[in-house]
Amino acid sequence: MEIAIMGAGLSGLACAIQLEKYGISPMILERRSRVGDRFINGEILLSIFSRPVRDDITFLADRHQIYLHPTANISEFIVHSVNEKATLTGPFGFSNIRGRHENSFESQLAKQVKTKIQFQSEYTYEQLVKEFTHVIVATGDAGYAEAVQNYQTDLTVTLKGATVEGDFSRYQVMCWLDDRFAPKGYGYLIPFSEKEANITIGFPDHEEGSLDNLKEKWSRFYEQVCTDLDQNLKITDEFEINRYVIGQCSMPRIGNSFFTGNCFGSVMPLFGFGQLPAILTGIYAAEDLVGGMAYIEATEPLRQSYYRSMTLRKAFQSMGDSAKDIMVRSLSGRLGERLLTTKVDVLNLAARLLRPFVKQ
Ligand SMILES: Cc1cc2nc3c(=O)[nH]c(=O)nc-3n(C[C@H](O)[C@H](O)[C@H](O)COP(=O)(O)OP(=O)(O)OC[C@H]3O[C@@H](n4cnc5c(N)ncnc54)[C@H](O)[C@@H]3O)c2cc1C
Repeated sequence: MEIAIMGAGLSGLACAIQLEKYGISPMILERRSRVGDRFINGEILLSIFSRPVRDDITFLADRHQIYLHPTANISEFIVHSVNEKATLTGPFGFSNIRGRHENSFESQLAKQVKTKIQFQSEYTYEQLVKEFTHVIVATGDAGYAEAVQNYQTDLTVTLKGATVEGDFSRYQVMCWLDDRFAPKGYGYLIPFSEKEANITIGFPDHEEGSLDNLKEKWSRFYEQVCTDLDQNLKITDEFEINRYVIGQCSMPRIGNSFFTGNCFGSVMPLFGFGQLPAILTGIYAAEDLVGGMAYIEATEPLRQSYYRSMTLRKAFQSMGDSAKDIMVRSLSGRLGERLLTTKVDVLNLAARLLRPFVKQ
């Protein structure tokens, strides 16, 4: 077998690590000049989104021998709405760094790969399909899947974020549910350390043209974060992503091409979590190649999670600021903590209950 992996991100590198365990050295092709060569941002792994897995980091280590060091375990989660605030005590999961940082998840995975990564690759999918027996499409976007008519886009999202300097607790993550700066979306703060954090707003692109006043929304969000933290945060870096695609491929495997990570559709529509599914699709593609499990069947639970997450997204999008106030108020205290830390897959349950009431 001659295997090419297109993209040295989470799913591509996880696939390579898994193949190497079976003595297979794939050709790893990365378009950029180094792993994670893009802006730095904070991301999280929340256990409520990974059920039945309760601890993503332990699960990846114990089950798949993939070792990741997060920034911190999240022991406090603060949710703000326009008029309410809920402070919840965990454990909730982990925060981590992405992009061009020595401790980013992609940098950590790259260290676990023995095969040399070929950077500044200009190979196209069409070339790779001709030259290799198998191709793993792990480019982190829908492009190639769309080109072979294998992708359905469900929504696109605008994301704007910044690295800020201030005083933070590494163990505390915050989010804001406030239509004034993140209509039908969210804002969040994820610390990188006690002195640095990432703040981001993300909201779906709507017909009204949500990009029009992005600058205004961003200033309002930044001011809100400074007010809530009672700090004058210094912005040291910024990023903006327009039309970040959330959708699913129709066929996870076509012939000898495997669509993994975001090319598969790993980003869950509700709040955009995609790291664990991305890593898992990489592992599952490798397992299929070595005869362990069929990729299409292995990824089916992720596809089902995606549909449930879409139902929740639709329900969430129908909520105005006052409904979010009620939600945040009811999350306060033991009830919220119980909901977020229970062994029960509450999101699955909620999606099933809401499904008859949400327009599909
Ligand atoms: C701002 C933001 C915040 C997020 N927050 C969270 C979060 O908090 N929690 C969470 O779970 N998920 C989050 N996600 C989603 C998560 O980051 C993605 O689901 C995950 O990174 C997808 O992994 P991947 O392997 O598909 O792509 P990536 O990890 O992005 O890797 C793709 C790689 O392919 C390379 N590439 C692209 N084109 C080519 C080509 N033609 N040839 C060769 N290489 C190519 C790229 O340079 C890149 O290195 C967030 C996403 C964004 C954008």
